[in-house]
Amino acid sequence: MGYSCKGVCEEFKGDKIPNGSKYEHGQKRCTLCSIFLSVSGVRCPCCSVLLRTKPRGKRS
Ligand SMILES: [Zn+2]
Ligand SMILES: [Zn+2]
Repeated sequence: MGYSCKGVCEEFKGDKIPNGSKYEHGQKRCTLCSIFLSVSGVRCPCCSVLLRTKPRGKRS
């Protein structure tokens, strides 16, 4: 526990991209900060939770 949004994610916020294609553009979603980020790592630089790299809902 102890994860929390510190507002740092704002600096890593991804460019605005039309609906649904953010993941394809390499952006990752932090579920805690509720924001898409353009970062190379797998964790949010803000709150350190693992980032989502794929859209949810598609089960293969
Ligand atoms: Zn944050
Ligand atoms: Zn975060």
